[in-house]
Amino acid sequence: MIESSDFDFENRIVAPEAIKQDVVDDIDVGLRPKTLTEYIGQTKAKENLKIYIEAAKKRGDVLDHVLLYGPPGLGKTTLSTIIAHEMGVNIRTTSGPAIEKPGDLAALLTNLQDGDVLFIDEIHRLSRAVEEVLYPALEDYSLDIIVGKGPAARSIRLDLNKFTLVGATTRAGQLTAPLRDRFGVVLRLELYSQEELCDIIMRSSVILGIPCDKSGAMELASRSRGTPRIANRFLKRARDYAEVMGNGKLTRDIVRIALDRMEVDDLGLDNLDRRLLRMIITGYGGGPVGLETLAAAIGEEAVTLEDVCEPYLLQLGFLSRTKSGRCATDLAYKHLGIEKK
Ligand code: ADP
Repeated sequence: MIESSDFDFENRIVAPEAIKQDVVDDIDVGLRPKTLTEYIGQTKAKENLKIYIEAAKKRGDVLDHVLLYGPPGLGKTTLSTIIAHEMGVNIRTTSGPAIEKPGDLAALLTNLQDGDVLFIDEIHRLSRAVEEVLYPALEDYSLDIIVGKGPAARSIRLDLNKFTLVGATTRAGQLTAPLRDRFGVVLRLELYSQEELCDIIMRSSVILGIPCDKSGAMELASRSRGTPRIANRFLKRARDYAEVMGNGKLTRDIVRIALDRMEVDDLGLDNLDRRLLRMIITGYGGGPVGLETLAAAIGEEAVTLEDVCEPYLLQLGFLSRTKSGRCATDLAYKHLGIEKK
């Protein structure tokens, strides 16, 4: 029963990560809020951050190192730029896999000015050797450098300017304990409510000059999987439908037509999500079925299903994970309109 797939992951419209077209459209950068006040939702993280920033400014000190964690597309990069803006400092942006050697990190660190923010995305992907260099830098703003080779090699300590590391990760569990312990501020970002996403869409529609009424924004929000990046992407794509099929304004009806054509359903599921659920239900009697078996049956990689489909399906309560495999829940049957036997 192998269904082979020609699924285009790089352009998956409901992907929470940035896809190729986002880069072309420049939506991430153009729509980023610049201040905490402009940043919608995440009330708990925002309030805590506000206090830490005010306290650091009052003391005339740098902000403690901040770890942001949560699923992709929720605003971690955005928040790092806001932190730098609110502290009135510069930001240098990099990512775990981009820092290949200890020397790469040393070069970044020695170029930071007093108080600067260093943002490391996907910080769980730093190599051990690079992490070792980071520890003394985080703890007492110093670098241990080895000069010379062989028996003549010796270590010298170099003082760095004080800085704030903002680390972002989708997988806090993969961070080593010593690294995690060096963050004074740890903030978890949550999926957004429909109302918050609606506010984000209304804000973006003003910036992009796309007329959109509240009903249209709510309809977009309800299919955006709790994720601002997806909401902004839908907004941009739906504009074309409004221009061709309506009078240019995004209303509920136009949004429905647009997202139905993009094969994104009422809850934001796409073909791949539905294919996975349907396979569990019709191919394996609702489960349990092992992930590897399931992946082979629908012709995708197991890790893809695990990283790309499962988080949202689990969150909706459509999927459950048991020791013996994945099961489709009653809610999933209901959503797909399949009667349970
Ligand atoms: P992450 O780093 O978590 O993957 P980003 O910070 O790149 O996510 O955010 C993705 C997009 O979502 C950006 O274009 C940004 O404009 C938008 N966005 C994220 N959070 C918010 C928010 N709280 N308010 C408004 N827009 C947001």
